[in-house]
Amino acid sequence: MTARVIDINDIQDTNGFAAVGVEQVLDATPKEIASLAACNDGRGGLVELFYSDEIPEIRRAKEICAGCAVRVVCLEGALERREPCGVWGGQLFVSGKILPVKRPRGRPPKHKEQLTA
Ligand code: SF4
Repeated sequence: MTARVIDINDIQDTNGFAAVGVEQVLDATPKEIASLAACNDGRGGLVELFYSDEIPEIRRAKEICAGCAVRVVCLEGALERREPCGVWGGQLFVSGKILPVKRPRGRPPKHKEQLTA
C-alpha cells in the first residue's frame, strides 16, 4: 500500500465524533479503501445501519466512522459523488449534501431533550 497517512487530531468534526488519535489514510485506491473501511465486515452486514433513517442507527454509523482509517478520503469521495443518502465519512448525506442534524419525525417535542444525530 502506498497511501499517505496523516494524524487527524486537528480536523474538526461537526458531529462531535472526532476521530481523535485515528490516523487517516489518504490517496488510497478504491480497493485499499474497501479493505480498511470500518463498515466493511465482508458480508454487507452493516449496510442497513449506514442507510437507516432511524436516529440511533445513524448515530451508531457515525460512531463507527469516527474510528475508521479512511474517514477523510471517504468523506471527500462522498462529497464529490454527491451521495444521495447514507452515512459517509461520519456525515449523513441527503440529496448530495451533508445534513448537519437529523431531526426525529413528527411534531417537534415540547421539551428540548430531543434525539438528534
Ligand atoms: S468513514 Fe464510515 S462510511 Fe466511510 S468507509 Fe469508514 S466506516 Fe465506512
